[in-house]
Amino acid sequence: MKPKVAFFDFTSCEGCQLAVLELENELLDLLGLVEIVNFREAIDDRREDYDIAFLEGSITRPADLPRVQKIRDTAKICVAMGACATTGGVNAIKNTAPDLEEVRRYVYGEKAHCFDTFATKPMKQVIKVDYELFGCPINKYEFVELVKCLLTGRPFVNKNYPLCVECKQNGNICVFHKNMVCLGPITRAGCDSICPNNGNKCEGCRGLVDDPNTDTAREVLSEHGYTVEDILREFTLFNTITEAPKK
Ligand code: SF4
Ligand code: SF4
Ligand code: SF4
Repeated sequence: MKPKVAFFDFTSCEGCQLAVLELENELLDLLGLVEIVNFREAIDDRREDYDIAFLEGSITRPADLPRVQKIRDTAKICVAMGACATTGGVNAIKNTAPDLEEVRRYVYGEKAHCFDTFATKPMKQVIKVDYELFGCPINKYEFVELVKCLLTGRPFVNKNYPLCVECKQNGNICVFHKNMVCLGPITRAGCDSICPNNGNKCEGCRGLVDDPNTDTAREVLSEHGYTVEDILREFTLFNTITEAPKK
């Protein structure tokens, strides 16, 4: 019997689900191996008997809590998918405001009382998460790799070295030479350094590598007169919730 897979979205732009749909041919191959029973972006059917749940988005309001708990209680495996779900992503920027009530009034105006919200939380702060797919949006090929691992029982391991490693393998000219502050030295690899490949700095959408004090990070930063501590202060667009490791 094929494992049953479901996709759910919470506070998000649904771009990570679109990244899955962009797989096209690979998705057709996967459909031979799993049964998709719930995927609002792609099918009309809604079934509640799923084995694997992919959860996109952040938890930002009280109504999300029973919904996400029900998904956790039903699924054997829960995967947090994308920056919103893994780190809080851009949704967590509001957490830096001194008064969330004021943020609510700023966004919703006189209808603010209709929208019950609280500080943004990534999935793992609310339920047990079995796997995480990082990025804004996710890397669709990492999604395929994870599904293959789940189907074959192979371990899925997220990359845990800085983006600079991929960037150097791709032969890019470091954007620090263009006076940009790039977060590659402390950001988790896995996107094939897509932003520096196109002449842009990395904004850290894949979150912090587990040990941002790696030699690669220090080496790249010291070449340009920065320290790991300097660059952690720039780590705010996608990672306001992420706790910087104590030095
Ligand atoms: S991680 Fe990015 S692409 Fe994915 S849902 Fe959140 S905002 Fe959209
Ligand atoms: S700092 Fe940025 S541009 Fe420079 S090597 Fe690292 S990832 Fe590439
Ligand atoms: S280069 Fe950085 S900002 Fe761009 S996709 Fe990769 S991790 Fe995200």
